[in-house]
Amino acid sequence: MQAIKQIMLLIILVAGLAACSRPAPEGADGVPAIVATTSLIADVAGRVAGEHVQIIALMQPGQDPHTYEPAPADVAKLQSADLVFANGLGYEESLVLILEELEAGGKVRIVTVSEGVDLLPGSHHHHEDGEHEDEDDHENDHAVGDPHTWMDPNNVKIWVDNIAAALADIDPDNAEAYWANADAYKAHLVELDAFIAGQVDVISQADRKLVTDHEALGYFARRYGFEAVGAVIPNVSTAAEPSAADLAALVTVIREQNVRAIFVGSTVNDTLSQQVAAEIGHPVQILPLYYTLGSPSTGADTYLSMMRVNIETVVKGLMADD
Ligand SMILES: [Zn+2]
Repeated sequence: MQAIKQIMLLIILVAGLAACSRPAPEGADGVPAIVATTSLIADVAGRVAGEHVQIIALMQPGQDPHTYEPAPADVAKLQSADLVFANGLGYEESLVLILEELEAGGKVRIVTVSEGVDLLPGSHHHHEDGEHEDEDDHENDHAVGDPHTWMDPNNVKIWVDNIAAALADIDPDNAEAYWANADAYKAHLVELDAFIAGQVDVISQADRKLVTDHEALGYFARRYGFEAVGAVIPNVSTAAEPSAADLAALVTVIREQNVRAIFVGSTVNDTLSQQVAAEIGHPVQILPLYYTLGSPSTGADTYLSMMRVNIETVVKGLMADD
């Protein structure tokens, strides 16, 4: 289904390119049209852009980028952009082919904000002998790498440099301002990193075990000394499905390691996580994390606030019985 939808979108895309033979449409006043795939990337890019250019977010808060499907209007926004900021690493699964096609067309510059990050492997399957990988679309994840780079604020510093370089390149008149904004925002990222580290200090090493809905916290775990012991969907994409054996193995891990919380992304259905929790035999809380921005009412509507909300939730979940 995914493949068919992508082909249909490509047809829309190619038809659109044929219909408009004019060069990349800049705004009427010559201001470059800049699109970010996710609201999170739009937030970070917006801090670097300041007042000089507007960043249009393709996906809205609450949409899961793994499973998002672009509407024709979204494809049109990408087509008419001069510059697109994407996470890359297969995160925006339905946009991979479209972005490749646009880049090949040469009119839209695609900047992968995670370029240069020290990547973790894409998935961590521990299949026993005799088990087989599902025939899903994620067989190449190992080669691509874990896309959730922003769960470590130090990686977002790399985003910021990539974004500033691209903005300075497309709008050289304001290059100095972009680099100054980048430095100012990176100072906030340093503060955020120290804040998270300080919060984590109260959690004993023995309690630093994370179980999540899918494998989204690898970079967070690496940075702050947690062990990601399991995931309901043992894959870096929410589009994958766990086998019965995967779920049984997770139940065993949670029991053996006495894990007391499963963290579930705000955009992810928690039914399967609730079912796993009910199997354990000791109380397991289901707690929400933000992998992408929430709406303004959530208090997690910027990258910086989202990560603060997340660490409070992690501390609450792992300190529950102490
Ligand atoms: Zn994810």
